[in-house]
Amino acid sequence: MTDEKLTGQTAVVTGANSGIGRGIALALGAAGANVVVNYRSDPEGGHAVARLITEGGSRAAALQADVSVEADVEAMFARAVELFGTVDILINNAGMQKDARFEEMTLAQWNSVIGVNLTGQFLCARAAVREFKRRGPRPAVSSALGKIIHISSVHEVIPWAGHVNYAASKGGVMQLMKSLAQEVAPLRIRVNSICPGAIRTPINRDGWETPEALAALMKLIPMKRIGEPEDIGKAAVFLASDDSDYVTGTSLFVDGGMTLYPGFESGG
Ligand code: NAD
Repeated sequence: MTDEKLTGQTAVVTGANSGIGRGIALALGAAGANVVVNYRSDPEGGHAVARLITEGGSRAAALQADVSVEADVEAMFARAVELFGTVDILINNAGMQKDARFEEMTLAQWNSVIGVNLTGQFLCARAAVREFKRRGPRPAVSSALGKIIHISSVHEVIPWAGHVNYAASKGGVMQLMKSLAQEVAPLRIRVNSICPGAIRTPINRDGWETPEALAALMKLIPMKRIGEPEDIGKAAVFLASDDSDYVTGTSLFVDGGMTLYPGFESGG
């Protein structure tokens, strides 16, 4: 059963075989969108998500691409257009961590995180803008020419020792998002970010898997619960739909209050 909000639109969701990307892909499918479920190296996961969307009544295709490789991104968008006619929504979700203390961080660890988390978002956003302009407006489908949603992080504003490559990539995503939003607003292309706090996915398993880790995590979350991929899926449907027609260039924090400086609740 769909609520029709995104019917007739096609979304590309990168890294949609697991975690937050999976949650967003399912939510967009439930809202009526055709969904391109991108995966890099987990075809089973990608096809399983596509199957769930199809079973729910929307169209979906699992497409392999490494978002840090220009030719892969171009081929994925070309195939998406071939399959569904165009792309209306990009969810720039694929991301990774390669953590190390600063003085021990290798150039390879730095480059791979920047390459996926920042350059990957640039390559996909550029392909999306080109496709939105090629296709032109379809006011009966959406009042926007296209929508780009970057999955950033609370670490676009919260510094993170031991993770400087990751925090730098998300700080970069913030200015990529805002500068792009400013550039394409006259074209009626909306560009926003979702900044998740701690969401229960494989990327941060160490932070929630044991009761001790979860208790330590709760000290950072005023709402005292870990987030779920569905929390991000709901925000993505809002930013992808005309319900947010006057929203561009903004970071929507979905974090249970993590950015409210919880240490100051009783101190300061
Ligand atoms: P995850 O590990 O489950 O998902 C990351 C996805 O990105 C995986 O599907 C992975 O295969 C894919 N990916 C990695 N490199 C890729 C590449 N080169 N090309 C294509 N796909 C690639 O973790 P997640 O938590 O679902 O992370 C999704 C996004 O959310 C990331 O950008 C992450 O930084 C962000 N985020 C997560 C949290 C959290 O608490 N889980 C918090 C803030 C931000």
